[in-house]
Amino acid sequence: MEYAAQMERIASLIRENPNFYALTGAGMSTESGIPDFRSPGTGLWEKIDPLKTSSAEVLYNDPRLFYEVGFTRFPAIAAAEPNPGHFAMARLEELGYLKGLVTQNIDGLHVKAGSRKVWEVHGHLRSCHCSGCKKGYPFEELVVQVGRKQIPPACPRCLKMLRPDVILFGDPMPEIFFEAESVLSAGCDLLLVAGSSLVVYPVAYLPRLAKKLIIINLEPTDYDIRAEIVVREKCGKALSDLVEQLTSG
Ligand code: NAD
Repeated sequence: MEYAAQMERIASLIRENPNFYALTGAGMSTESGIPDFRSPGTGLWEKIDPLKTSSAEVLYNDPRLFYEVGFTRFPAIAAAEPNPGHFAMARLEELGYLKGLVTQNIDGLHVKAGSRKVWEVHGHLRSCHCSGCKKGYPFEELVVQVGRKQIPPACPRCLKMLRPDVILFGDPMPEIFFEAESVLSAGCDLLLVAGSSLVVYPVAYLPRLAKKLIIINLEPTDYDIRAEIVVREKCGKALSDLVEQLTSG
């Protein structure tokens, strides 16, 4: 199917299926300058294995390695700005089509772009908390302490180690993941997956809960065979064109 016909068909599916949700991954944010994990040539995994520098095991067993290596990419991610794809997602919700959005991204860009019903199932970089007394602080507290070479950064109240509010490899999934899973299980007629390789579990189970799937991704995924439509285009362009399709005429 040609690209223009794909956009028409997706718009029809969205109009016909009121229980419409989205699932996004790192590919949503590459156009905001944040590298994903698995794009050939530019993906972070080709440069540095996050399992070796930013897993929960590294954080608790070798906090110096976590904060001196794994953590270094986080401040730039926290400072990134939304791209047209994020704004288009927010518009789909504002127009009354999109009921909610599950994201694996920790960059907070859907929230910054104005999306309201967002399940950030891998956490975000707006805050951090103490691994001892659990008191919460703004993410900036980590940035300032790490910048001053206070490693590991310490809770101002009890002096135990601070950690970012993101779900690291090896951390348990947060309650909101199970909330998103149960909402989708209760009735997701249509799921739009944008910018995810769909290989990180348990999030990669979620497309199975949808009756119909649409995928926008530059590279093939294991779910392509199950999708009504697979669009090989950048999220920024495809989602903006989709909004245009739904709002013109
Ligand atoms: P991934 O890196 O495994 O896959 C990204 C996919 O997006 C790739 O298949 C790639 O072809 C595609 N892609 C890249 N740019 C695109 C674009 N502009 N338009 C359309 N497709 C594009 O990402 P994932 O599936 O989200 O899994 C990675 C894990 O790493 C997630 O759990 C996430 O938490 C974390 N992560 C998050 C960020 C972020 O917050 N922005 C960045 C890197 C990794």
